[in-house]
Amino acid sequence: MIMSQTRLYFLSSGVLESEKHYFTLNRGQGEAFTVPVPFFFVEHDGARVLLDTGNSIKVCANPREHWGSAVDAYYPRMGPSDYVVNQLAALGCAPEAVTHIVLSHLHLDHAGGIKSFPGARLVVQQREYDWAFSEANTQHGAYIQADLTGIAARQWLCIDGEFDLFGDGSVCAFPTPGHTPGHQSFLIRLASGKRFVLTGDACYTTENLEEDIPPGLVWDAETSRASMQAIRRIARENGAEVIVGHDPVAWGAWRHAPAFYS
Ligand SMILES: [Zn+2]
Repeated sequence: MIMSQTRLYFLSSGVLESEKHYFTLNRGQGEAFTVPVPFFFVEHDGARVLLDTGNSIKVCANPREHWGSAVDAYYPRMGPSDYVVNQLAALGCAPEAVTHIVLSHLHLDHAGGIKSFPGARLVVQQREYDWAFSEANTQHGAYIQADLTGIAARQWLCIDGEFDLFGDGSVCAFPTPGHTPGHQSFLIRLASGKRFVLTGDACYTTENLEEDIPPGLVWDAETSRASMQAIRRIARENGAEVIVGHDPVAWGAWRHAPAFYS
């Protein structure tokens, strides 16, 4: 196990202004709810890994032009300094140095930056990749084709099931479908003994996770509940702290970049 060099940074791509029922299914209709847009950066020996990317730079100036009617549910507030490339620059990392982007899923606020990293391998569940480009997709508004197309085929690494990025247990992905068919979450093991489960949108908030409430945007609610159960089990078995996807209160309590966990 070579984990002594691993650093985990917590970042956010601005905020989304929304309503709570979009996050907790059938709860909080009309209640204003502003959430962070988390993504993560891992330095691991020579590798530089993003776990999601946040929003496209294009939503800084004119969100509706790039996101269309999705802004009626989730209005992004971000400035250029919130953009993934600029946040990495502040950490001394150029886009060319990023080796991998492992994506929880391909929704607009997670995959918006992938085209800025033409040298990175894009790791995603095959089911998510297929869904993003499927005619049968019932969440079209949440997948911005301009963010996802025009990418060299060799960049994509589509996986099926659990995945250990470095083969040493430090950065692992496991399927958590429900929010989307091919959603995955992450288990991070650091040299200090600290463990984190990064849920992505498998659970938006602590309330979702603790009260078994599917996300307001959900492909299949029962599958979502099963994935939240798996997350609770994996966190328990690993003694891991759980970082949920878009919780305005929980997010504030973590150490944010340029600070890191190691
Ligand atoms: Zn999502």
